[in-house]
Amino acid sequence: MAAERINGKQIVAEIREQISQEVQSLKDKGIQPGLAVVLVGDDPASAVYVRNKAKSCADVGIHSEVYRLPAETSQSELLQLIGKLNADSHIHGILVQLPLPAHINEDAVIDAISPDKDVDCFHPVNVGNLMIGKPGMLPCTPAGVIEVLKKIGISIEGKHAVVVGRSNIVGKPMAMLLLRENATVTVCHSRTPNMEEITKQADILVVAVGRAQMIEARHIKPGAVVIDVGMNRLDNGKLTGDVHYDDAAQVAGYITPVPGCVGPMTITMLLQNTLQAAKNKASQA
Ligand code: NDP
Repeated sequence: MAAERINGKQIVAEIREQISQEVQSLKDKGIQPGLAVVLVGDDPASAVYVRNKAKSCADVGIHSEVYRLPAETSQSELLQLIGKLNADSHIHGILVQLPLPAHINEDAVIDAISPDKDVDCFHPVNVGNLMIGKPGMLPCTPAGVIEVLKKIGISIEGKHAVVVGRSNIVGKPMAMLLLRENATVTVCHSRTPNMEEITKQADILVVAVGRAQMIEARHIKPGAVVIDVGMNRLDNGKLTGDVHYDDAAQVAGYITPVPGCVGPMTITMLLQNTLQAAKNKASQA
């Protein structure tokens, strides 16, 4: 039996409607959540992501400001801008679009963002809070995956979740969030031998590798939930995931399409974090 295709559009629409309502009620109290997005250089993919983020903010009533800086911008100029945004009371979230040009140290830039405004959850303070289970900002892509699982009514507790990929942005925080939801978690990476034997045990399989269509039916336990984080541009210009959709759908119970699920959910979680940062600020006032 073919897998159920997870309707990412519907899930995203439901959550964004909820965010819109909460933004409106904050606005009624005189507070408009604000996000600053900083783009350095002219990477075309980054420019598209930034445009999507700004448009998504507008759709739910969040104020956004995009700072487009030339590729030659120095690290100290960028740090100066971040300092200004940290101090700006209209800005609740700061996002620096990665990757940065090679002459800028990404860690120094991330460390400079105030943890309260770190809506990507890349700052070591927020990463540490996630690790020890303290409340705080959650990283957008992994948080979006957990939301998808909850929205389709999958109980995570006690399940064997396998994450393929161990990046700081997706794989590692994904494993932490699944652990927090009481899954038994295994993480696979490029040095994992016989990966297929491990992925085939997964009730929930999250794939974040960056290799087009590498996960096939043979990697998947019948009935498993397969979440494809991958976004790979093929030579024909089409976007495809890390999972071979048609093949995997023969075996999986549920599967996410690419594009159309984890990507827009990631932006939705960015909106959610910006709203949360504004609410936190309002409650301190
Ligand atoms: P990275 O390149 O930072 O990490 C890739 C991970 O995959 C590494 O841990 C690597 O292992 C592992 N890996 C590579 N090859 C293999 C292999 N053959 N078998 C098993 N594991 C392997 O990528 P990201 O985590 O940043 O991104 C992963 C994918 O997700 C990309 O396609 C990216 O575009 C997409 N993405 C999508 C987002 C969205 O919003 N939808 C957001 C962020 C990313 P090792 O550590 O050993 O090198």
